[in-house]
Amino acid sequence: MLIVMHQQASSEQVDAVLRQIRDFGLEPHPIPGKTRTAIGITGNVSAIDPTHFEGLEGVKECIRVTKPYKLASREMKVDDTYVDVADATIGKNAFTVIAGPCSVENETMILRTAEFLRGLGVRLLRGGAYKPRTSPYAFQGLGADGLELLAKARERTGIGIVTEIMDASQLAEIAPIADMLQIGARNMQNFTLLKAVSRSDRPVLLKRGISATLEEWLMAAEYILSGGNARVAMCERGVRTFADHSRNTLDLSVIPPLQALSHLPIVVDPSHGTGHRAYVGAMAKAALAAGAHGLMIEVHPDPARALSDGAQSLDFGEFQKLWGELRTLADALGRPIA
Ligand code: PEP
Ligand code: MN
Repeated sequence: MLIVMHQQASSEQVDAVLRQIRDFGLEPHPIPGKTRTAIGITGNVSAIDPTHFEGLEGVKECIRVTKPYKLASREMKVDDTYVDVADATIGKNAFTVIAGPCSVENETMILRTAEFLRGLGVRLLRGGAYKPRTSPYAFQGLGADGLELLAKARERTGIGIVTEIMDASQLAEIAPIADMLQIGARNMQNFTLLKAVSRSDRPVLLKRGISATLEEWLMAAEYILSGGNARVAMCERGVRTFADHSRNTLDLSVIPPLQALSHLPIVVDPSHGTGHRAYVGAMAKAALAAGAHGLMIEVHPDPARALSDGAQSLDFGEFQKLWGELRTLADALGRPIA
């Protein structure tokens, strides 16, 4: 349920409502708005009786939230959410590009990539230190050494770091290095991990599971929000379908319904979405045009020698060309790349 306070409600009246919610054993989530305060309630397993709150001073109305995801829903929070990451902001009317290699492979390649991207004006570097690979024989990432190299790339260039956390036990190690924690498609329903990052002060990029419905994806976000971390950006990276002309089917048609149902920003990953570098540019531009708030793109100094996902990684020249096209398109759409 959502309790909407009167515009003139005093902070004492808001506090009294918060107390009453807690007295019922429920969790209040104050949502400050431009003109009024609203308070979301979670923790109930059945419908809440609005008469418990309607009579309290300062309360304007109690609205039932019909969706199973509450804090992630537009019903509960009408205003769009902006997620600040390092010196970038992911949200409406901005367009943020996260770029970098699939994996951190060595010092030279990650520093070269960070310097190249920062030189263009890219604010966020991606790179996996811990990699979820389909095969146990494939490159698993450099682990702690990879994190150290990411920290060095940030120190050297000022670029923000987005890197994947695969397991709750890695939080203490990764959080100090990551400006944003990435949760991979395979872990979208790793509930222990979702609960762990919900207690972190780091923003989270939540990738869509390979066969997740929009509702399941939003329920995964709800785990993070309900645990106390409001800084979540969603990432569409393609889903598994019968189509075999691309690695996944990049579901750009999820963008409008996601934006209708939720206030959370959405980033699109056309690299994993297509699996082929030749298709990345078209889908990146389509995502921008369809209303995405950002992109995550794999870029590698020498894709042919990449230890993971080389086939879908752009080289520097290809990325630079796409960057120019994206800037032109973003300007024309009135959502310039910051
Ligand atoms: C990645 O970003 O390199 C990755 C493994 O992505 P996903 O979880 O979407 O497969
Ligand atoms: Mn990858």
